[in-house]
Amino acid sequence: MAYIEERNSESGCLFCNRRDEAPGPASLILHRAPRSFVILNRYPYTNGHLMVVPNAHVPSLEDLDSQALSELMLLARRGLRALRQAYGAEAFNLGVNIGAPAGAGVVDHVHLHVVPRWAGDTNFMATTAATRVIPEDLEQTYLRLDQAWRALPAED
Ligand SMILES: [Zn+2]
Repeated sequence: MAYIEERNSESGCLFCNRRDEAPGPASLILHRAPRSFVILNRYPYTNGHLMVVPNAHVPSLEDLDSQALSELMLLARRGLRALRQAYGAEAFNLGVNIGAPAGAGVVDHVHLHVVPRWAGDTNFMATTAATRVIPEDLEQTYLRLDQAWRALPAED
């Protein structure tokens, strides 16, 4: 299953360009960890569409060491919990596009999509960008998720 990504319109790497930006609604960065960070997708499939991104500018999961890979999944877990809390998400699609033929928009910097789903929601895989309906603005999404993320108990 490919997540169709927006073409990267920035010069340089979309993710590396955010490296020095602090978490907040302007950067859309929800959380920074030692080896990775969590950022809202600027072109979400659904409200709450997150991405977990390693700091390392590498194209594939196989280029990450075990610690970076573990942190990526731990942040995905926290993302799932925050999305259940903030949006009552009932289901999720998680996905990584590795390489352009797989649909990667930022081919050189691997990232994990976390997309919340609800019973009866539109099938975003069959929906084009032009017809997607995203009723909530990103700043509101950010504030909701930030609150839920910070309210979660410490993890083991
Ligand atoms: Zn990068």
